[in-house]
Amino acid sequence: MSTRRVLAMQDVVKRTPIEFNNNNQQVSQYYGSNVFGLDAMREFLSEEAFNSIQNSMHQGTIVERKMADQVAACMKAWAQSKGVTHYTHWFQPLSGATAEKHDGFFEPIEGGRAIERFSGNALVQQEPDASSFPNGGIRNTFEARGYTAWDPTSPAFIWGETLCIPTIFISYTGESLDFKTPLLKSLHAVDKAATEVCQYFDKNVTKVIATLGWEQEYFLVDSALYNIRYDLQQTGRTLFGHAPAKGQQLEDHYWGSIPERVSAFMRDFEYESHLLGIPVRTRHNEVAPAQFECAPVFEETNLAVDHNLLLMDVMEKVAIRHNFRVLMHEKPYAGVNGSGKHNNWSLATNTGKNLLSPGKTPKTNLQFLTFFVNTVKAVYEHGDLLRASIASANNDHRLGANEAPPAIMSVFLGEQLSNVLDELEKAVHNGKMSPEEKTALKMNIGRIPDILLDNTDRNRTSPFAFTGNKFEFRAVGSSANCGGPMTVLNAIMAEQLVSFKKDVDALIHKKVEKDEAIFQVLKKYITESKKIRFEGNGYGDAWKAEAKKRGLNNIPTTPGALEAMISKKTLNMFESQGILNHREQEARYEISIETYTKKIQIESRIIADMVNNQIIPSALNYQKGLVESVRGMKDIMTAAEFKTVAKTQLELIKEISERVTVIKNEAHLMTEERKKANNLDTAKKQAHAYCEKVKPYFDSIRYNVDKLEGIVDDATWPLPKYREMLYLR
Ligand code: ADP
Ligand code: MG
Repeated sequence: MSTRRVLAMQDVVKRTPIEFNNNNQQVSQYYGSNVFGLDAMREFLSEEAFNSIQNSMHQGTIVERKMADQVAACMKAWAQSKGVTHYTHWFQPLSGATAEKHDGFFEPIEGGRAIERFSGNALVQQEPDASSFPNGGIRNTFEARGYTAWDPTSPAFIWGETLCIPTIFISYTGESLDFKTPLLKSLHAVDKAATEVCQYFDKNVTKVIATLGWEQEYFLVDSALYNIRYDLQQTGRTLFGHAPAKGQQLEDHYWGSIPERVSAFMRDFEYESHLLGIPVRTRHNEVAPAQFECAPVFEETNLAVDHNLLLMDVMEKVAIRHNFRVLMHEKPYAGVNGSGKHNNWSLATNTGKNLLSPGKTPKTNLQFLTFFVNTVKAVYEHGDLLRASIASANNDHRLGANEAPPAIMSVFLGEQLSNVLDELEKAVHNGKMSPEEKTALKMNIGRIPDILLDNTDRNRTSPFAFTGNKFEFRAVGSSANCGGPMTVLNAIMAEQLVSFKKDVDALIHKKVEKDEAIFQVLKKYITESKKIRFEGNGYGDAWKAEAKKRGLNNIPTTPGALEAMISKKTLNMFESQGILNHREQEARYEISIETYTKKIQIESRIIADMVNNQIIPSALNYQKGLVESVRGMKDIMTAAEFKTVAKTQLELIKEISERVTVIKNEAHLMTEERKKANNLDTAKKQAHAYCEKVKPYFDSIRYNVDKLEGIVDDATWPLPKYREMLYLR
């Protein structure tokens, strides 16, 4: 019955680390060599073309067609010098994964010969068939065309034999169909709003960029075991599996020594990442067995998002060379810590200043305080939208599960800064602050950096925490495109900063002195946004009760959480910032809710298949042996002997029958619920039905399957067990 599992385990036992060799080169010798970055551009482009691209990257100007022809020809020459034969527009459709369609450079010409060609047109724009990608009803079937357009702010790169050109993806009528387009618009909006606010403090600021440093958590599993678990292959998580006797109780995995095989894999994917200019620098074990994390040096957000997506792809491909599979799912194993993708976010100016880093001088402190308080206010205003931005069927398993941030949005500031805000609130009384009070306040902030950066004042249970010089959005799921949550964060910050400037200017207009006006507005925001601040244990039940009292939402599942995507407040915010119009945002909601339904639907089908084709047959097979043995006993024993000796076996036989009956029944009822859900007339109703009517069966079926796993003979059980998958050598 389980020959496949036995064979797979034999493979696993025989594994040795796959040697990885980069000839002892230092990273600096090859870093970025597969990127059409500054060095390659300087070498291959004319000065005119080089300047045109640089202007486009930094000022957002359009690269003219004539220039594009030149750039394309040079890109092709550079790529060919590295053996590249194909090119692709690389984009981020709303399905979540990245998309690519590889075209050869060659073109047949007369005489049966061929030449290699890559024109400016091919670089700048392509027309993939948009009908195969999610579009939320935007694309009518008679207008299937969408197009991808070159994003010169993220450099082209070589992956395998292909030159990849990062692009946006929009419908023929101009609506965005991807993650990148609104992200770029949100970056533009926050740049504009933040630069204007910076003028209060420093006239030299002409540009503000949002920075992102993600931390990627993931699991590794041996590919032999992965290959015989349909659930892992099809859904990314194990739908069944009894918790191992030794899980993470001993807390001996976190930052422990990395197994040889794993470390060879890490060296290999880091090498590939460095060739692609992805600045991964940190690696360590995570909390759960077989769980790891990697993190890069932070970058400008658009580039950081591209790099994260590319890294996930690189990891998956490199893992296969090492006979591993990477699990990016938020919760591959029930009862074991899940995976997230912490998004460290800040704003930086062209003058080299991190706007969320408390400074040493009173002037920069007020600037810090301004951006700091405005971030808190933005999260207060749009906490539900931030919650929606990280909602997915996968992440539902993780949020609020006492290992990940709760589904309640709150902001953690740390004791020092909480005190500063409280003092400021008290100090600005009757709309006035004495000069001494102002100085004292500013001086206090000056003492903060040293206190914060020594890492003592940290709270790991908050979904959105200030960590000394950046905010860390911890609720993002490990498999998510961070472009989604980053678009929201930048957008709400942009809207917030615009309001702030309006409020301050109104006071200045009334002849209030500038600093005073800023203090007054900040005080008002501090008072208004107080309820989003929480310093305590986000995992505790006390917080749930407290949050409820404060009127903060706690929406545990995706269909409910997604509603915030189409609230009036959200639609207006996105539209006022020029990021997404109502139609685009509504389409995004439709796609998210349909994706949720599809995911649960697939899981439900796989549960039924595995139960009927693998689990029940194995259990019955084992039971058959028991029945035969009992029958044999009866033949050779006296009735009295039999009665005492066969008891245990008879109980086992009975338990198997009972559990099989329950499983079979529940699987049937689940299928019936699915049919009902499929017949509902809106995507929203379907999603709710899948969440509330279909999904509850997952747990009851699983409970009984896992019990069977506990009693059925180890050799008969068809699925690799947690203890086999989670312990890597
Ligand atoms: P941890 O949260 O695990 O203690 P670190 O404090 O070392 O980790 O930083 C985590 C991530 O934060 C890194 O990826 C780093 O690049 C990023 N980071 C640091 N400074 C900034 C910043 N100003 N903007 C965005 N990300 C940043
Ligand atoms: Mg972190």
